[in-house]
Amino acid sequence: MKENFPIVNLISMPDDMLKTIYTACRTCYSADYPINIWDKSNDREKMLKLVKNVLASGHHSTIEHCHLVFSISGVSRACTHQLVRHRHMSFSQKSQRYVTEKGEFEYITPPTIKGSPLEAEYDEFMKKTAEYYSKLISNGIPAEDARFILPNAASSSLIASLNLRELIHLANLRLCTNAQMEIRILTKKMCELVVEKEPWLKEYLVPKCEAIGYCNEHRSCGRVQKREKV
Ligand SMILES: Cc1cc2nc3c(=O)[nH]c(=O)nc-3n(C[C@H](O)[C@H](O)[C@H](O)COP(=O)(O)OP(=O)(O)OC[C@H]3O[C@@H](n4cnc5c(N)ncnc54)[C@H](O)[C@@H]3O)c2cc1C
Repeated sequence: MKENFPIVNLISMPDDMLKTIYTACRTCYSADYPINIWDKSNDREKMLKLVKNVLASGHHSTIEHCHLVFSISGVSRACTHQLVRHRHMSFSQKSQRYVTEKGEFEYITPPTIKGSPLEAEYDEFMKKTAEYYSKLISNGIPAEDARFILPNAASSSLIASLNLRELIHLANLRLCTNAQMEIRILTKKMCELVVEKEPWLKEYLVPKCEAIGYCNEHRSCGRVQKREKV
């Protein structure tokens, strides 16, 4: 895996997430029109207090109005296969049917292999795969069939979008040390980009043990106490 991989950018988000959520929260309990609530809201401390209280009460539908769009490159198909399991996310991923790899294809080398005595053999395996892929293509096999030999390591690109509620869920599951390394790095980068813009979200974009106060995994990393001990 290259040092800067995966390449993650936050390409679209609401201009004011806090105010959007605050307006959604207040609309539920106000006789006023939402647009008036929006126009009158400028006390950020007051907004933050209400939003945090609403979230603590579990009224998470109010954060579904904030949609985030990420551009992601340099991730393995193994990683994207895990990401697409999240059913409240939307994806547009580089197709292995419509995009024919030219010569050597880009692939991810996990850190456990990178720099190890096995790395040269791993690279050789990928080179051989690329050669055979090219042979299939040059013999008239369509890319959609030639791709059958491409490995989980093949690098991919995608646009992935999700709302804030799903991002928190993603963080809870995929920042856990039991999640696979690459999707943990990817999720961490996604969360960091959001926190950069909205620092108040830092406390929510955490592994689930931090959110619930104990570990409910079978195999615990020991960072917090197991559920049975709390
Ligand atoms: C450490 C780890 C190991 C894993 N190992 C495996 C594995 O070995 N094999 C495997 O197949 N998967 C594995 N997964 C994937 C896992 O089972 C989930 O598919 C994935 O994490 C998405 O989680 P989710 O369903 O909670 O989230 P999302 O699909 O993002 O949904 C968010 C929430 O919406 C609700 N929801 C969504 N769809 C429905 C629905 N149809 N009905 C009711 N409620 C719904 C649920 O509350 C859900 O938690 C693993 C995940 C992790 C984090």
